[in-house]
Amino acid sequence: MTKSATSHLLPVFARVDLGFERGEGAWLIATNGERYLDFTSGVAVNALGHCHPHLVAALQEQATKLWHMSNLFKSPDGERLAARLCEVSFADLVFFANSGAEAMECAIKITRKYHAAKGNPERYRIITFEGAFHGRTLATLAATGSAKYLEGFGPPMDGFDQVPLGDLDAVKKAIGPHTAGILIEPLQGEGGVRAAPHAFFKALRQLCDDKGLLLIFDEVQTGMGRTGELFAHKRLGVTPDVMPLAKALGGGFPIGACLATADAAAGMTPGSHGSTFGGNPLAVAVANAVLDVMLKPGFFEHVQKMSLLLKQKLASVIDRHPDVLAEVRGEGLLIGLKAVVPSADLVTALRAQNLLTVGAGENVVRFLPPLIVTETEIEEAVQRLDRACTALSGDQLKRAAGR
Ligand SMILES: *Cc1c(COP(=O)(O)O)cnc(C)c1O
Repeated sequence: MTKSATSHLLPVFARVDLGFERGEGAWLIATNGERYLDFTSGVAVNALGHCHPHLVAALQEQATKLWHMSNLFKSPDGERLAARLCEVSFADLVFFANSGAEAMECAIKITRKYHAAKGNPERYRIITFEGAFHGRTLATLAATGSAKYLEGFGPPMDGFDQVPLGDLDAVKKAIGPHTAGILIEPLQGEGGVRAAPHAFFKALRQLCDDKGLLLIFDEVQTGMGRTGELFAHKRLGVTPDVMPLAKALGGGFPIGACLATADAAAGMTPGSHGSTFGGNPLAVAVANAVLDVMLKPGFFEHVQKMSLLLKQKLASVIDRHPDVLAEVRGEGLLIGLKAVVPSADLVTALRAQNLLTVGAGENVVRFLPPLIVTETEIEEAVQRLDRACTALSGDQLKRAAGR
């Protein structure tokens, strides 16, 4: 809401006037001592909640051994993390980065280089979808294609052709002699928790196979358990050739990764890409610890159970407050609540009840609890939502009466 006039941080974020000093599971403790139920998870990052003991132990142990040694040398723990990610996915190879945008950059480079290495450097264009979000670097911003983010930063980087989500004819028309691949989120997060039908993804896979294109699934937000499976595409029954990951991969420690099949990554030879910090030992240690927890039997059953519970309870709140809420959407614990009132007002009203949520496109409020959220915490969140809706309804009545 308000930001400090004396802040020396580049004012690119509209920060809420609320600071936190500690986190415990699904809870954040503010500098004023108040407890907030955190259904943002740091924008789908803290998948195992705040300060999960297994992650804390992994980070503390690594901190006493080795922090950084660059990619000049071998990384046994990085090898192990890459092998584990490949074992649980379609991929053969992994590049480690530090963020979602960087993992995306690697995906774009792999896709372009794939064709160049085959003698077709003219095939560099990537088809993307309206409502997408792929990051804030110049290339990923061009892929995102959102006018409000591109404004003022010069001509957007060339090489992306955007079509409406779910429009197969538009995709077919956009494919030309310069097309290299198709890039899509299995479920759009920032765009408003928007999904395309499963059949659409199957058709994209078929198109890519027929035309020799690479299929890239941006699972930066949906990946690492958020939708109730380790990767969202498992539910679609379609596998990509390239898949950037980040957000929940390090459970709060910055790490990104770009996964690819050996065939897709065939052009990536020594010197063709790099990163100073990518695969940093601290990040790798924590990501290995995240996998330890997520790969335990029953982890995703819990996520699916909590998902069902949350969706059912949200639906009943919608029934009680149709003047405030319109619709619940999403998969797993990437849940969107489409509001009737401005979504920013709902986020503010929820914060007044000490429940933290995140806005998204299409007037949607995202509910992103940690994947370890309990039934009691979901009940608590829903009660707070109910109270926030009652407060918002009251505001509306007052406004109507004043008119
Ligand atoms: C958050 C996000 C990104 C960008 O990740 P950063 O770590 O912020 O660079 C890219 N793609 C998707 C789908 C995301 O949700």
